[in-house]
Amino acid sequence: MTIIDGKMLAEKMQADLKLKVARLQSQGIVPGLLVILVGEDNASQIYVRNKARVADKIGIRSETLRLAENVSEQELLNVIEKYNKDDNWHGILVQLPLPNHINEGRILHAIDPKKDVDGFHSYNMGRLMAGNPAMVPSTPAGIVEMLRAYNVELSGKRAVVVGRSNIVGKPMAMMLLAENATVTIAHSKTENLATLTKEADVLVVAIGRANFVTADFIKSGAVVIDVGMNRDENGKLCGDVKFDEVSEVASLITPVPGGVGPMTITMLMEQTVEACMKSINNMTDD
Ligand code: NDP
Repeated sequence: MTIIDGKMLAEKMQADLKLKVARLQSQGIVPGLLVILVGEDNASQIYVRNKARVADKIGIRSETLRLAENVSEQELLNVIEKYNKDDNWHGILVQLPLPNHINEGRILHAIDPKKDVDGFHSYNMGRLMAGNPAMVPSTPAGIVEMLRAYNVELSGKRAVVVGRSNIVGKPMAMMLLAENATVTIAHSKTENLATLTKEADVLVVAIGRANFVTADFIKSGAVVIDVGMNRDENGKLCGDVKFDEVSEVASLITPVPGGVGPMTITMLMEQTVEACMKSINNMTDD
């Protein structure tokens, strides 16, 4: 069994990105990532801080715009509109979740699709669905990179994705399909989940339930990708997969932490640099 080292892979990709950014800087161009954070959600504060730290490390200019919990939807829309028009910012990201009084869909759709580095705008989701992706969600994109780096064969293989959220499960399924895997999506209403997951050559779990997937869900030799970020009963960070026992059955497995998480942030940075390069070359996605 091999543990997929997402941290190491992410660091390597970040080093490559840093060189790319340095080349842009030598031409007087600095990729810019604007992060909008509404309210004081603890987990969001940590995510936003991590994104800023990695952006700094790579040489991307990042700014976190902190708005009060009670900001109105219209005020937030106005802020997005302002940065959509500002050529100094190539990526705009609104940290989720938003407070209940703000309509998330309306906000995500206000971001210029060309600056939508999270890939959550329906335009970008549609392009992914149509097999012609532009900006894509970072978590599944990072997973595809990891599978590639570890030479996991996907063509013709059975892939099962557990979870159907717009940010992980659904785009993950589309990306695996694009790699010619035979894909099944499971969710909370799926019957006989373990029977289904046991058929998977590649299993991606993104449900948000601590240590839910046990060894009896796994086909011997399967590749297991654990997206979950949960706290166990002792408050320790853990995934959706019970690592100790599943790693006895799997051939490749991602740890939590140190697996999917670092790759997610790295892909976000890569898309920011990409968005910057497209904007200076006046490129459009056909
Ligand atoms: P959501 O809560 O949006 O979606 C969870 C999905 O899991 C839903 O589709 C739900 O089904 C399904 N589900 C829930 N319980 C079960 C169950 N018992 N059996 C089968 N399916 C189930 O979560 P996200 O997709 O946003 O995130 C999932 C996990 O990944 C979380 O732990 C999150 O923290 C983590 N995450 C980690 C990232 C990283 O970078 N490492 C990035 C993003 C997320 P239904 O649709 O029927 O309700």
